[in-house]
Amino acid sequence: MPEVQIDQSRCIGCGYCVDFCPVEVFDLVPDDRSAGAKKAQATREEACWACDTCVGQCPTNAIRIVESAEETQSRDRDEPCAPPLPLEEHELYTEWHRVLMDILRLRWNPVAISLIPKGQPLPDVAQPRVKLRHCQALMSARRGKSILMPAQCHACPDGTHILGLTEIPPKLASGEIYLQFKKLATIDAAKQMVAERPRLPNRSIRATLVSPLQEAQRTPDVIAVIAQPEQLMWLCMSSSFYSGKRFNFQVSGYNAQCVETTLIPYTTGKFNISLGCYGCRASSDIGDDLMFMGIPKAQMPELIMGLKQLGKKAIHDSRNKVYLPPNL
Ligand code: SF4
Ligand code: SF4
Repeated sequence: MPEVQIDQSRCIGCGYCVDFCPVEVFDLVPDDRSAGAKKAQATREEACWACDTCVGQCPTNAIRIVESAEETQSRDRDEPCAPPLPLEEHELYTEWHRVLMDILRLRWNPVAISLIPKGQPLPDVAQPRVKLRHCQALMSARRGKSILMPAQCHACPDGTHILGLTEIPPKLASGEIYLQFKKLATIDAAKQMVAERPRLPNRSIRATLVSPLQEAQRTPDVIAVIAQPEQLMWLCMSSSFYSGKRFNFQVSGYNAQCVETTLIPYTTGKFNISLGCYGCRASSDIGDDLMFMGIPKAQMPELIMGLKQLGKKAIHDSRNKVYLPPNL
């Protein structure tokens, strides 16, 4: 069980920890040393799952969450690692990676995302030294890092339960927390937002794994592309090159990387775009000019074939056009 330490000399009794803790660990109690004043107390410490939300919200940096070495251990010492991918599969992902990078002229690596179900072995990939949000791990993977994150490595209460790593905390299930953050107008709007987003069954996923596509250590469920609108436009056209179909995307500005880039492609089998959300834009170095696409692995062969065809002429011609503005 994590230990919730509160430095009482720093606590000013503002109650932010009480409001923002998704599992209601804190209460404000009378301060023995000052009549009428209050201090935070971790009265339900056993409920803490070390999400660090209170640490981020406390204005005086009074809270510290301490986890033991056993709590951060995700694999039995004797548990064998998952075997590496067969060479043929590795070569396929390397080829997809090269085609995406070269034809689209991507600046960032496409990212392989795997949701490793409960009971399956973990690949031999490093876990982060600090807790990360799923969106932060994705942003690191686009720069070349491979990151394995069991539940205890995840920092975001939203993303962690949405991706099936934990239960949904009560204040998230009720929508109450989104009003605390002033992100929605009413509790009904918050409930609607929660009800409309997909989530995987509680604790059905053992860990998330992200890595540059060419370094995937496990068959990816979804491939994420972080790119400019023009580059994602060509990916849409690649996907409809043989069918001419249009797409219905699910975008909201809430839960971009966990829901829109990962879970919607994972659960529907269709690719989706995302404009990012306030969470991932505040918690990472993602540029304001970038957006996201999540592509289920099963859709990649058709998309890559279409992209290769568009890369022969259409993309080159469009990018090299000379625009003459109308003489108004
Ligand atoms: S948020 Fe920090 S300062 Fe405010 S009551 Fe909690 S511990 Fe005290
Ligand atoms: S770490 Fe998360 S669960 Fe634990 S007390 Fe802080 S906000 Fe609550």
